[in-house]
Amino acid sequence: MSTTAPAGLDVGALLADSAHLIDGEWAPARSGETFDVVNPATQDVLARVPRGSAVDVGAAVQAAAAAFPAWRDTSPAARADLLYRWACLCGENEQEIDLLERMEVGRPRWGPSPVPRTLIYTAGLADKITGQTLPSAQPNVLGMTVREPFGVCGSIIPWNVPGPIMVTDVAPAIAAGNTIVVKPAEDAPLTCLLLAKLALAAGIPPGVLNVVTGYGSEAGAALSAHPLIRRMSFTGSPETGSKIMAACARNLIPLHVELGGKAPQIVLRDANLERAIPAIVTGITLNTGQVCAAGSRLLVDESMRQELVGAIAEAFGKVRVGPWYEDVQMGPLISARQEKRVLGYLDIGRQEGAEVVAGGRKLTGEKYDRGFFVEPTLFDRVQPGMRIAQEEIFGPVLSVLTYDDEDEALAIANGTRYGLNACIWTSDVSRAVRLARGVQAGQVTINGFGSRGVIGAPWGGYKHSGFGRTMSADSVLDYTQLKTIVINGD
Ligand code: NAP
Ligand code: MG
Repeated sequence: MSTTAPAGLDVGALLADSAHLIDGEWAPARSGETFDVVNPATQDVLARVPRGSAVDVGAAVQAAAAAFPAWRDTSPAARADLLYRWACLCGENEQEIDLLERMEVGRPRWGPSPVPRTLIYTAGLADKITGQTLPSAQPNVLGMTVREPFGVCGSIIPWNVPGPIMVTDVAPAIAAGNTIVVKPAEDAPLTCLLLAKLALAAGIPPGVLNVVTGYGSEAGAALSAHPLIRRMSFTGSPETGSKIMAACARNLIPLHVELGGKAPQIVLRDANLERAIPAIVTGITLNTGQVCAAGSRLLVDESMRQELVGAIAEAFGKVRVGPWYEDVQMGPLISARQEKRVLGYLDIGRQEGAEVVAGGRKLTGEKYDRGFFVEPTLFDRVQPGMRIAQEEIFGPVLSVLTYDDEDEALAIANGTRYGLNACIWTSDVSRAVRLARGVQAGQVTINGFGSRGVIGAPWGGYKHSGFGRTMSADSVLDYTQLKTIVINGD
């Protein structure tokens, strides 16, 4: 395996060459085929992984089905302990997990990986899955509900934040007694393989967690269509989400989908701009804008447009861009395909008549030429109907739109097909409450970006951003089905 990564993480020592995890064994694809995973800052090959196909997915699903009865019948307390041990191992290996994810995704360090915390939180839910006793019209009849796992679950993961998204699906599924097969994204499957390796080392039994690498149209499609899958989860684009839903419809199984976003940053006239500006910049440059929650539309009162646009353009000019192993704030885009997409939107924005006031180009020069680097870009004079105001670019591109009053701000904020999250900047509590209630989105932050350390905040979308919620105290319950039991004591 190639180990050309600059900052010393030896991927070959960490992961088996060209192997994915089926039934506790590291195995190549049955076809023997592989594909390369590259570092997007340099295009150096980080590792090879199997190009799994329907036959590999079939083997993984069979392994998960075979492991299911014993895992379902394992004491919930024992399942909690095993999840906790997995969390501890992820904590001990936090540096490796984070570095591997940074290498394959191309992002700078954000701070500690959230993976151990998510696992600890979910471990604590594993032994708290309860049903109810039910009132009865007959004195000698006892009614109750119990919560039972579905069986084998399938999870399809995107490339932008692979580790946290994988555990967000896997941990509640197995906490509830399900087994699971994960298909990571082809562009960033390595973190998922490392997390699976640590799960095995923690003592989670073979077959409970399986990872099949491969292409979406092959391994992904086979997984979502497999007749033994009883519940699916998907995080990715609305277009693929719709295909997964169609496959689940054919098999009549439930799913949740976490899709894209076009989050508005609504800045009111009384906002504290000193606080807002850095958060707005971070909100669109974090992970090079390749975040479903990216704040990609700036909605400003016309009276403050010039001041805000000037300040953000200046801040964009100061964003340090470079490879993940340098002290930078923003890395490259993940792939040539993603770069083409983002540069395409820069052309579209110009053609639509929006005005580039910062960035707007591919970065060139020795540091950038081997990677997929673009400048953080600010488009002013964007109209709500323009494609750059409607479509998810998934890059560091911020569109400025103006409104005349609060009603218009809300109409623009709600005027896309998405509804994942929104930010509102104001010092006026009444306006904050009105707008927070009026925005059609699964998460609204007042005077900040993201969930700001709130623990157990449910995550998920309205409209085309998807349905179902992850990360909350209900996350484990969502991986159970309710059974009513009636005991007739007559
Ligand atoms: P994508 O192209 O939809 O891919 C997501 C996953 O689906 C990948 O593993 C992909 O495999 C697989 N896939 C592709 N075609 C498939 C098919 N026909 N059947 C089954 N699986 C298939 O999305 P992406 O480009 O990786 O990720 C970006 C999108 O994800 C954005 O829209 C972003 O907003 C969204 N996202 C949402 C959230 C959220 O929480 N709401 C979080 C992160 C990302 P390949 O990698 O091999 O194509
Ligand atoms: Mg894809």
